[in-house]
Amino acid sequence: MSAGPDGGGAPADRAAQLRERLAAVRGRVDAAARAAGRDPGELTLVVVTKHFPAGDVLELVGLGVGDVGENRDQEAAAKAADVAARLGSAAPRWHFVGQLQTNKARSVARYATAVHSVDRARLVGALDRAAHDAQRRLEVFLQVDLAPALGHDADPGRGGAPAADVPALAEAVAAADALRLAGLMAVAPRDADPARAFAVLHELSLALRREHPSATGLSAGMSGDLEQAVAAGATHLRVGSAVLGPRPAPR
Ligand SMILES: *Cc1c(COP(=O)(O)O)cnc(C)c1O
Repeated sequence: MSAGPDGGGAPADRAAQLRERLAAVRGRVDAAARAAGRDPGELTLVVVTKHFPAGDVLELVGLGVGDVGENRDQEAAAKAADVAARLGSAAPRWHFVGQLQTNKARSVARYATAVHSVDRARLVGALDRAAHDAQRRLEVFLQVDLAPALGHDADPGRGGAPAADVPALAEAVAAADALRLAGLMAVAPRDADPARAFAVLHELSLALRREHPSATGLSAGMSGDLEQAVAAGATHLRVGSAVLGPRPAPR
């Protein structure tokens, strides 16, 4: 089958491809939940659609996907508007999962349900003001950089707060009227054992929940390590390429 520049051949092929890959990922999630003695119903699959067109989001919604993720505001804002125009109230929830500049907070607060990548106090303030002005409430996951705890070098492209910053950031989010503290998020560092990385994250989550009992969310696990994340208590899995295929070049 030939793959076109936007990730598929004919539309019918693309629909079949997405259906098969999504079913395979759902199968992996269910199996991982069973293996961990967890209820698959407590897991939210966020399908990361970055670099893929709005048409793919429409197909995914048709397959029952209710949560999609994006990592760049410019692309996400346009796609969310496009999808909202076509689906109205049936549009999916948008999760912002990428590094976020403070000056993009205003835009993100207009379409996102949740921001998974909050890692500094200035961004907390900017998102709170933006959500307030948009008359919305944003779910906030604090992104933690797990590299230092694992003895790895920091990965500057990935962001995340040092674990030591989490208590103060959590206080700031909890005190912000337009934000709700959902929990923690992390990306397993490159070259780290994901099981070990997510075990560290799980410990940090338990510590956070002692102070903020309702912050039970744990956003962890991608295409390559969702099983380890489910075993470590993840509640939100951010899966891109296993559903959509290899990402085309950014547009
Ligand atoms: C792209 C991305 C994902 C999805 O990654 P895959 O390996 O394609 O599943 C998850 N989380 C973040 C923060 C991302 O940027």
